Amino acid sequence: PEALLSVRGLEKHFPVTKGLLKKQVAAVRAVDGVSFDVFKGETLGVVGESGCGKTTMGRLITRLLEPTGGEIVFEGHDITHMPQTRLRPLRRDIQMIFQDPYSSLNPRHTVGAIVGAPYRIQGIKTEQSIKKEVQDILALVGLNPEHYNRYPHEFSGGQRQRIGIARTLTLKPKLIVADEPVSALDVSIQAQVVNLLEDLQNELDLTYVIIAHDLSVVRHISDRVAVMYLGKIVELADRKSLYESPMHPYTNALMSAVPIPDPARRKDRKRIRLQGDVPSPLNPPPACRFHTRCWKAQEICKKVEPPLVELAVGHQVACHFPENAPEGFTPGDVTAA
Ligand code: SF4
Repeated sequence: PEALLSVRGLEKHFPVTKGLLKKQVAAVRAVDGVSFDVFKGETLGVVGESGCGKTTMGRLITRLLEPTGGEIVFEGHDITHMPQTRLRPLRRDIQMIFQDPYSSLNPRHTVGAIVGAPYRIQGIKTEQSIKKEVQDILALVGLNPEHYNRYPHEFSGGQRQRIGIARTLTLKPKLIVADEPVSALDVSIQAQVVNLLEDLQNELDLTYVIIAHDLSVVRHISDRVAVMYLGKIVELADRKSLYESPMHPYTNALMSAVPIPDPARRKDRKRIRLQGDVPSPLNPPPACRFHTRCWKAQEICKKVEPPLVELAVGHQVACHFPENAPEGFTPGDVTAA
């Protein structure tokens, strides 16, 4: 399959400054050397606890933030440091859905003004045709075309997220990056919004990067899933192999927190409780960043950083002692894989 987006060695280090002269004394390594592709028409789920860099990564690939290192290539264009003026045409193609549908919608603007704003900014349509287009989009996201003149506060959380989604569709994007699109919503509403995203993907030929803090939200919608920890991808695999045979201890811990609906299967599962919180990205642990919380950690984990390597077809992991490793894999020596 063809890559729509290719990210190589992506970095975002936020400087920490001191004093009036703002002398840089350290850096928060929010995203620290991340590489992956997003293929046309797929959904890549990106999962990790808060502070793992996933939101920063989403903002980098939509170019809301400027990377400090690495490369972002979208449809063959290197957009890593492209100036905003040249980025404008590409802005239509890459859109972002935010976590909190309420704070991202201007309360003083009607739904028609919010969803139709990109047309008005670009001056590409008459008011009458904007209204028609916006009403079509509202119908597409499951809202009533008569909602055109209403205000965001008149809607429920789920409906507001539908307005947020409608707004991203105006310019017919190719890639949508959704940052925790359902985590602010009631559990009962979450599935509806996920199903809507799935329907829109089929209908409009969209490609998604969906960011979430747990593995259950992205389970059904993702084709592949990347797990991030402290600014790095620790595991990346297709959905089936990630959920059925996770290799990284951190993924196993996240997986053990996903609810299992079937009580018969639930009792067989061991809950892995991680010790402590995610360490600060200001001063991450050396070598394997997970070693301070990993129950499998050995001396080598504190000394040698395990590279992200492919241990099974399409299944990459960064660990010296992976779980479910294929036959012939020598623990403690991922570089030999
Ligand atoms: Fe745990 Fe070592 Fe693997 Fe890191 S490299 S996840 S510390 S076993």
